Amino acid sequence: MDFQFDARTEELRGTLLAFMDEFVYPAEEVAHEQRAKLASPWDTPAVVEELKAEARRQGLWNLFLPDAEHGAGLTNLQYAPLAEITGRSPQLAPTALNCAAPDTGNMEVLAQFGDGPQKERWLRPLLAGEIRSAFAMTEPDVASSDATNIETRIRRDGDDYVINGRKWYISGAMNPDCAIFIVMGKTDPDGEDVRRQQSMVLVPRDTPGLRVRRAMQVYGYEDHYHGGHAEVVFEDVRVPAANLIGEEGGGFAIAQARLGPGRIHHCMRLIGMAERAIELMCRRAVSRTAFGKPLAAQGQVQGWIADARVTVEQLRLLVLKTAWLMDTVGNRGAHTEIQAIKIATPRAVVDIIDKAVQVHGAGGVSQDFPLAELWAGARTLKLADGPDEVHQRSLARRELKKYL
Ligand SMILES: Cc1cc2nc3c(=O)[nH]c(=O)nc-3n(C[C@H](O)[C@H](O)[C@H](O)COP(=O)(O)OP(=O)(O)OC[C@H]3O[C@@H](n4cnc5c(N)ncnc54)[C@H](O)[C@@H]3O)c2cc1C
Repeated sequence: MDFQFDARTEELRGTLLAFMDEFVYPAEEVAHEQRAKLASPWDTPAVVEELKAEARRQGLWNLFLPDAEHGAGLTNLQYAPLAEITGRSPQLAPTALNCAAPDTGNMEVLAQFGDGPQKERWLRPLLAGEIRSAFAMTEPDVASSDATNIETRIRRDGDDYVINGRKWYISGAMNPDCAIFIVMGKTDPDGEDVRRQQSMVLVPRDTPGLRVRRAMQVYGYEDHYHGGHAEVVFEDVRVPAANLIGEEGGGFAIAQARLGPGRIHHCMRLIGMAERAIELMCRRAVSRTAFGKPLAAQGQVQGWIADARVTVEQLRLLVLKTAWLMDTVGNRGAHTEIQAIKIATPRAVVDIIDKAVQVHGAGGVSQDFPLAELWAGARTLKLADGPDEVHQRSLARRELKKYL
């Protein structure tokens, strides 16, 4: 039985479920066909723009942004069940609703820390879904899960900043619609406080010296719908000092603020991915026969299905508790739960999708079902937004503090 949410959430859920059935699922095949005929694989299939227009028309737009001035004004608890539904079609639905990473985090940064001109130039078109964006922090040459290692240099030169560095796995950057990069680097590399050495600056894609060098792969997938994950080189890239977000030395704090909601959004969508995997697993199990009985009659398969259901129900409760805490005591107060859900969800959902793959036999690893790509996407979330081990370390330290 489904949770009962408040009236506004229930209404949006109803609208979104119908939108998924009527528009998103049928568009999955169309998008694949259109993509095959595009001039560049990084262009956006026409059906995606049609989905965006329809979602906006139905009021399913910018649901992720709690700030009512710029977004839908939903709480995290209200957004959670909606994000879950979009996770059932992770390549199309989040983009259709203008709720896809990394744009969501970048819009949050601009809404929270951007000044008037920055909001007008970049936040407004992002909120309207006219452009896309990227967040450039990770570097191939240093262990970037420790943000103090970041080597990209942002040097003040008169009225400008000059940026030099190399980043990789910069999601969205292969998409030609990605017009703006939020770049993290060091403005004060020798500063005493390592958490104040870094700053964030806005770098328009067409700035001389910014080079999108190549598309990195994810288990062989290029993640076209996501705008890929690029290696990006910054060579004497010069931007006006007014492109600084917030204050010099504030980069670390902004990154922390940015990642809280982003992490739980991923978990909400992962639950939707798990639900899709369970549905596919069950449909396959009742429709294939081996050794004289349906796969669904095998105790092993029944065990996988039951365990998957139990796990998803547990994860959903923890996501909802975390969302509620974020709404009531703030992201800092919900720190432990955000880390707990970030550790628990990808791990469990990878396992559920893996079982669904197994029930599909060879079909499970093929391109004819979404499972292989879902698995690769879920697996990367044990790394992206910080590896599990870093969250485990920090969560354990907070737990141990009680006993020291
Ligand atoms: C699909 C995908 C999309 C991404 N998108 C973006 C993006 O848009 N922008 C961006 O800036 N980055 C992005 N990333 C990068 C991601 O955030 C980093 O990969 C992640 O933070 C880890 O950094 P690293 O790869 O340098 O690993 P490292 O820092 O080198 O860590 C490697 C491993 O060391 C271990 N380790 C590290 N620290 C500890 C510790 N304290 N205790 C125990 N073990 C530890 C962990 O097992 C970890 O996985 C993306 C990554 C992927 C895979």
